[in-house]
Amino acid sequence: MIRRPTASIRAREIPCAEALLLMTLVGVTLSGCAALSGTDSAVEGRERVDTTTAEYAAIEVPKDVDYRARDLQDAPIELVPIIDFVFMARGVGNVFLIKTDEGNVIYDTGVSWQAEQQRDLLLAVGHEKTTHVIVSHAHGDHNGGLDAWKAALGEGAELIAHERYEYTNKIYGDTDEYLWRVRTGTLYPSHSAGQVATFRGYEPSLTVDVHEDYFFEVGGVRFQAIAAENSAEGEDALLLWMPDHEIVFTGDFYGCLYPMVPNLYTVRGEKTRDPIGYVRALDRLIDLEPEAILPAHFDPIEGKSYLRKSLQVMRDGVQYVYDETILGMNAGRSVYELMETIRLPAELEISQGHGKVSWNVRAIWEFLAGWFYYEDVADLYAVPAKSIYTDLVDLAGGAGPVVERAQEHFDSGEGLKALRLLDVVKEAGKESVSALRLRLAILEGMLDRSIATHDNMSESGILRALVGRTRDAIAVSTH
Ligand SMILES: [Zn+2]
Repeated sequence: MIRRPTASIRAREIPCAEALLLMTLVGVTLSGCAALSGTDSAVEGRERVDTTTAEYAAIEVPKDVDYRARDLQDAPIELVPIIDFVFMARGVGNVFLIKTDEGNVIYDTGVSWQAEQQRDLLLAVGHEKTTHVIVSHAHGDHNGGLDAWKAALGEGAELIAHERYEYTNKIYGDTDEYLWRVRTGTLYPSHSAGQVATFRGYEPSLTVDVHEDYFFEVGGVRFQAIAAENSAEGEDALLLWMPDHEIVFTGDFYGCLYPMVPNLYTVRGEKTRDPIGYVRALDRLIDLEPEAILPAHFDPIEGKSYLRKSLQVMRDGVQYVYDETILGMNAGRSVYELMETIRLPAELEISQGHGKVSWNVRAIWEFLAGWFYYEDVADLYAVPAKSIYTDLVDLAGGAGPVVERAQEHFDSGEGLKALRLLDVVKEAGKESVSALRLRLAILEGMLDRSIATHDNMSESGILRALVGRTRDAIAVSTH
């Protein structure tokens, strides 16, 4: 028996009459879906699942989810039985144990500071021997607990990862110091900054190639490890499929919410994720036709029809944004225009709580064409625009008139323009308390708006951090 997720909207088989009513209520029409399937795809060589069926139209996919990525911090560490021989130890990152007559298969290891507790919960119901430890990818909330399985690995348990795992583990490790000091520490202050990343030191004993699934059997239970071409959380996602039970362990394959717009660009800093690879990887997951997905964050999700539809929506949403970005680029529109204007059509709208459409537009642009926009040639050289901000303040006759103009922008609803002007003053070293107070008002408004709309984890996180820093700066200046 698979537990249903706590989120309110889940898989439902909807009878015909109810389906028609629902289609009316949510504004999903057969013609709308047909239009979608008729869109020429910029990604070639991929078979589209038929989205014109009544079944596709009838299944409701929520536009948002009623939980947030930051809720992971409060996830209790507890044992959750999934079926009679599959168990989950919940935490920031879930850890799974599949108990067979010959030993345990472990999928993912959680974060370093919870891993031993999770391991003990699982081993209390598991076999005394562990034969396999599988890591879904090289993010610290998934491989961070490898130390907890050191004894099992020392006794010969296989450590299985994606063929790109060692590469991604290396580049994450190379930038750990920068990311923690500048970015991760800002976005996720509750994580234990400065942790010693000993988990990066484990070498897989077996890696799985992208187009060669690894089939194995333990105690009569059949497994298939599938290395994705790409995923929403990096290029080294390793899925674990149990074909006889139609269960797939996904790690962070699509991201931490379900369903969600993928996080092609991480504000915390990482390689841009390949949108085409993501679309193909989603196809692979759809082709499995899983009855249940066991993700490494939050709750299991079940229901074949619901999973099929929601995975299609995730895939088609990325495809749509990709296609629109290409169209815009080729039509000579600027990246900023496209960030402003590309929106998901109603039938593809899902949570932007982790990934964000406008940032994905820019990520796709830069993934394809790089960071130089052919607008300001000085951008090719190490003299940033802000190097002349002091000159601008001098020319304006001091910071006063600039802050006044910023206030006018703010009063007329142009908060971001106001913020740009305040950045000029700040860079010139002339940020007064009144400028700081205006900055605080702008940032607080942005944070409120962010929370009231998608409550995107990265956007809200960085705004929350900047509100705090601005308040601190005001306190220092007024004492
Ligand atoms: Zn994760």
